[in-house]
Amino acid sequence: MPNMADPIWTHATGAPERPALRSPSTTWNYATLRDKVAAFAGHLRDRGISQGDRVLLIAPSVPEFAVAYYAAQAVGAIVVTLNTMSTPAEIEYVATDSGARHIVAWHASAVAGERVASKLTMDLVILDAGAGAATRAPLDEPVERADDDTAILLYTSGTTGRPKGVQLTVANLFAVASAFITQLNFASTEKFGTALPLFHVFGQCVCMNTVMLAGGSFSVLSPFEPRAMLAMIRDHEIDVVAGVPTMWNYLVHVEGDFGPKDCPDLRLAASGGASLPVEVIAAFERRFACTILEGYGLTETTGAASYHRDGIEQRAGTVGVALPDTEIVIESLDGRRAPVGEVGQVLVKGPTVMKGYWNNEAATAADLSDGWLRTGDLGRLDGDGYLAIVDRAKDLIIRGGYNVYPREVEEVLYSHPDVVEAAVIGVPDERYGEEVAAVVVLAPGRELSADELRAWLKEQLSAYKVPHLIRFDDALPKGATGKILKRAIEWTTDEGAT
Ligand code: ATP
Repeated sequence: MPNMADPIWTHATGAPERPALRSPSTTWNYATLRDKVAAFAGHLRDRGISQGDRVLLIAPSVPEFAVAYYAAQAVGAIVVTLNTMSTPAEIEYVATDSGARHIVAWHASAVAGERVASKLTMDLVILDAGAGAATRAPLDEPVERADDDTAILLYTSGTTGRPKGVQLTVANLFAVASAFITQLNFASTEKFGTALPLFHVFGQCVCMNTVMLAGGSFSVLSPFEPRAMLAMIRDHEIDVVAGVPTMWNYLVHVEGDFGPKDCPDLRLAASGGASLPVEVIAAFERRFACTILEGYGLTETTGAASYHRDGIEQRAGTVGVALPDTEIVIESLDGRRAPVGEVGQVLVKGPTVMKGYWNNEAATAADLSDGWLRTGDLGRLDGDGYLAIVDRAKDLIIRGGYNVYPREVEEVLYSHPDVVEAAVIGVPDERYGEEVAAVVVLAPGRELSADELRAWLKEQLSAYKVPHLIRFDDALPKGATGKILKRAIEWTTDEGAT
């Protein structure tokens, strides 16, 4: 199948009545979805969009996102999906870097899109509930593409510098989607639900493309709201749900007696995007009687490099084993292949690894050589190939010569009964170079002083790992997927000291 839109045509013929896409207010079966995609593709073709053209898509997680996404791919365009919160300056950067001539924008996000379209004289298509209404000449079927053609470009901010466009090919998209059908044992009769943003690799490639390839039903919610999510799981009789750790944490804390009786079909929760505290896994499985499968990936690996597999041994604290045909090795700081158990940089090679960064040979050469992707994450492998992510290399705190992995401290913080969320960061310090600081969100109505928390932490962690600086906040900054955004945490030098 050379086009990611093909499965929709296949299922529309083989199982036209089967539900394809749902939101709390919409249900489209495969025949309807195919007709909408074909009509919108005809519309894009009539606007002059063809093979290899870059098309910016700015839309939230609504079914119409899928119409535009698959329609653009059906005509052979490269889809560039953007965060709906993007400012005109951010859109302009991506439009210029990718050389896009067309923007498709959801009506509620159209203001920023309009501004950029008029400044750069680009074509603007407004996407609304009427997307895919019958046009005179729908596209008959998706165009042929080569496996190595770039299908999508996803811009990732990385650590420094301007965002880079990650080029994912047709083969990358199929590799992840087919791997996930196997990992999740996902059947075409099943229902999958998520509130992840579809402009991000996780919601788009690991979730939506997987379900479309399998021919299952895909329910989306936007934005994420814990009660609405539980209602969708119950009302749509969801079998598999996907999200980031902060979402599981919110679902666990929803008040009321929602439990297994309300979601008897729910059998798996696929977690990724950030480390999943062991405490959150236990609390989620207790409340919903549903297994959490944790995996690991980056935009540069089409969202997945390693995953646990349904029915195969789960090892808490690890992100599973390499996906099929994928190799994962650990490189020690001096560039050697690290032995089992040693911490070093995670390197990945396999069918989900990107083709390269768009228009950026220097960045591609820095991160990709001989097919090996340097992830910038620190991890270790056990003797059976299970990968544990220790932390992002850039988040490592070096306090007076000692390495402190924030994730280890966060794990302990999450096990405190009064703590709901926590982030540990390094802040500059004259004496130690860096000092360990924690920003902590307490459960409603709980009271705890920094000294009490520190005394409790001292019983579980070596003294140098215990945050010397502690601040209590109402919430932590979150990125587009709901992941905690450490780089957005501000800390002034005289704050929180003991
Ligand atoms: P941005 O594009 O804003 O830089 P990002 O760096 O989070 O965001 P993504 O490609 O979305 O980019 O995320 C990939 C990163 O997420 C990985 O490099 C890793 O640090 C982290 N990650 C993903 N899954 C896990 C996991 N299961 N455990 C720990 N960390 C994870």
